[in-house]
Amino acid sequence: MSEYLDNELDGSLCREIEAHLERCHACKVCMTTLQRTVALCRQAGKAQVPDSLSRRLRELIGTLAKP
Ligand SMILES: [Zn+2]
Repeated sequence: MSEYLDNELDGSLCREIEAHLERCHACKVCMTTLQRTVALCRQAGKAQVPDSLSRRLRELIGTLAKP
C-alpha cells in the first residue's frame, strides 16, 4: 500500500484489506485507481489529497473491511 494509505489505516485493518485484495479483483482495481489518483495529486504539487477522494477512500475501506 502507498504511504498515504498506510497513514490512513491502522496495521491490522491494512493487512485485512491487503488479504482481501489478494482474492478480489474488483476491489484491487478500485484500490489501484485510488492509489494512482493520490500519486497524480502529489505530482501536481498538491500537498493534500482532496477531501472528496479521502472520503471515497474511507468508504472503500469500510466496504472492504466487511466480511
Ligand atoms: Zn472485494
